[in-house]
Amino acid sequence: MTVQALNLSEKLVPIEKGALDELRSWIRGRVLARGDEGYDEARKIWNAMIDKRPALIVECTGTADVIYAVQFAKKHQLLISVRGAGHNIAGRALQDNVLLIDLSHIRTVLVYPDKKTMTASPGATLADVDHEAQAYGLAVPVGINSTTGISGLTLGGGFGWLSRSLGMTIDNLLSVEVVTVDGERLLCTKDQNPDIFWAMTGGGGNFAIATSFTFKLHPVGPQVMCGPVAFALEEAESVLANYRKFCQNAPNEVAVWAVMRHAPPFPFLDKAYHGRPVLLLVGLYNGPMDKGKTELMRLKELGKSLGDGITPHRFTDFERAFDPLLTPGSRNYWKSHNFIKIDDQLIKVLVDYAKKLPSTSSEIFIAQMGGKVNKVAQDATAYPHRNVEFIMNVHTRWEKEGDDKKCISWARDFYKATEPFATGGVYVNFVSEGDDSIEKAYSQNAGRLAKIKNKYDPKNVLRTNLNVKPSQ
Ligand SMILES: Cc1cc2nc3c(=O)[nH]c(=O)nc-3n(C[C@H](O)[C@H](O)[C@H](O)COP(=O)(O)OP(=O)(O)OC[C@H]3O[C@@H](n4cnc5c(N)ncnc54)[C@H](O)[C@@H]3O)c2cc1C
Repeated sequence: MTVQALNLSEKLVPIEKGALDELRSWIRGRVLARGDEGYDEARKIWNAMIDKRPALIVECTGTADVIYAVQFAKKHQLLISVRGAGHNIAGRALQDNVLLIDLSHIRTVLVYPDKKTMTASPGATLADVDHEAQAYGLAVPVGINSTTGISGLTLGGGFGWLSRSLGMTIDNLLSVEVVTVDGERLLCTKDQNPDIFWAMTGGGGNFAIATSFTFKLHPVGPQVMCGPVAFALEEAESVLANYRKFCQNAPNEVAVWAVMRHAPPFPFLDKAYHGRPVLLLVGLYNGPMDKGKTELMRLKELGKSLGDGITPHRFTDFERAFDPLLTPGSRNYWKSHNFIKIDDQLIKVLVDYAKKLPSTSSEIFIAQMGGKVNKVAQDATAYPHRNVEFIMNVHTRWEKEGDDKKCISWARDFYKATEPFATGGVYVNFVSEGDDSIEKAYSQNAGRLAKIKNKYDPKNVLRTNLNVKPSQ
């Protein structure tokens, strides 16, 4: 069967067997086309809603495979999409009929404890990164779900439990090695190819294919004080008002996120509450245990707590704590807003919608930002939202296709109801349909990104991302 692939004019063109054989002879990993054994498995990503069929999937085993795949795409003028770990909610790693450069099999992470640095391969997950760094009691701030890819996370910005104390993932990025759409390898740092380095600190995968990331590491754990405190949803309005005050006075070492969802079967929670909607305040203290205990136990005073699981945990375990609630393979539709403050009206809307969650695995998630994240100038990195104190993400999740309409409508209504309180900006890694605008994601940094795009990808070969178009 002749493979048909999209070219740069977005027209389907045939890839003859001879060309395909030649590509296969250069690539060490598998090159899969429709109908090949393993093709359907290889095009599965985290969000089961995404069902796209690339023309070719090139499973790269290293940078050489990336270079050969890019050279092939260039020769045949093909559109490329790139997959890190395939976690992106909008499923932007996959696109119909493109040449997919799949990096998810390249997962080596090398830690240099003397220098306190780490180099991660582009298919590494956060679990890979944390596992290697924690062997030396070190860490870089990353996200809260260990199956997420380091590539997409970093290219969008990256934040998690350690960001208030240590900054975003990009604030700890020392260098990125990339392969450009011309097939050229470049090392990018603040001093070497600084324009593309800056673009990779939040500008997404618009500029080149990242083949490794080097980060600065910090001593963390290996045990940290952390855990959840649970409150009945009936208490949520007053607890969230108190949480707002708590956040205003919290030291940078503290990160507390608010989650409204059906309660998991926590051992500390009375069985009567298992499966009932609750408010969880989940916190981590990055510092001495005794101080952490004092700070996090204050959460119990924010309302009538139903119990808590605040205790020392291995940092790597806490980084996996949300994994069972965010497993791959479910249907997902997420919406996100940035907030500078959480006022009383907003709290009312949040709790109102939490009372009518459309499925037992859906949740309203509010991440506490601020601290070191907001000490960085808005134009110092491509990620621009340095004045935001809270990022809300609505994780709408369900299993059956028949529930699509109900769940998506709930998420859209909720997004609309909370919009008047939001900044209008959105974290690029949480962008979904309807809010997919470059201006919302990059605000005043959008123009500078377009100029860098002119230089590195003027034909817009990499356009399946939230696309920064060349300005020329
Ligand atoms: C359950 C869950 C929890 C999350 N929690 C957090 C969190 O706590 N903090 C946070 O900051 N984010 C979080 N995210 C968002 C996450 O950062 C993004 O989904 C991110 O895109 C995942 O990276 P990936 O490599 O797995 O993605 P992929 O889906 O593989 O790729 C995402 C995008 O980046 C591009 N891309 C990927 N790798 C490369 C590369 N090497 N070179 C060029 N382009 C590339 C892809 O083309 C695609 O457009 C979460 C997402 C999920 C689903």
